[in-house]
Amino acid sequence: MAASRFYSLPALKVGYKDLEPHISEEQLRLHHEKHHQAYVTGANGILEKLDAARTSGADVDMKATLKELSFHIGGHLLHSLFWANLAPAGTGGAPGGAIGNALEKEFGSFDRFKKEFTQAAGSVEGSGWAALSYCTQTDRPVIMQIEKHNVNVYPAFKILMVIDVWEHAYYLDYKNARPKFVEAFWNIVNWNEVDSRLAGIL
Ligand code: MN
Repeated sequence: MAASRFYSLPALKVGYKDLEPHISEEQLRLHHEKHHQAYVTGANGILEKLDAARTSGADVDMKATLKELSFHIGGHLLHSLFWANLAPAGTGGAPGGAIGNALEKEFGSFDRFKKEFTQAAGSVEGSGWAALSYCTQTDRPVIMQIEKHNVNVYPAFKILMVIDVWEHAYYLDYKNARPKFVEAFWNIVNWNEVDSRLAGIL
């Protein structure tokens, strides 16, 4: 297939062991190679189905197909953002730069942002994500709480940082203890990446 017209699994910028002890090699490998890949495969399968129907002239159940396409594309894009905003332990802590200033201005302090984001991640109903996004109309960083991969998304808000809180993201390392995974996440945030995403829209 023509790669440019379909999705592909991006390589991680870190090795599978590099996020230990916060995310184990086994957990990261499974999450990337199996779970993320499944969304890539799912989205591409739907695109192929649409291509085939357009060629044959067959009808497609648009409601069901587009719901499924949104789910798979959302899964692919969010995982791609997630991997890139992770970095080996030791680079965590409070950020400086434009992102540090933006968070302090909006939330009053980094600690207040961390508390709100942690609570957003912890309280996602079922499977989903917490994301730090940015609204260019109001110049405010805004927290998104995404259910599944595509519900409660603010259209066109750029995502600066995201954490996957589907159980598949942490079950091998933390069992059902999502709060422990969210706490560990703060040790492996790639603030340089978050800052450069913000710089890209300001
Ligand atoms: Mn995931």
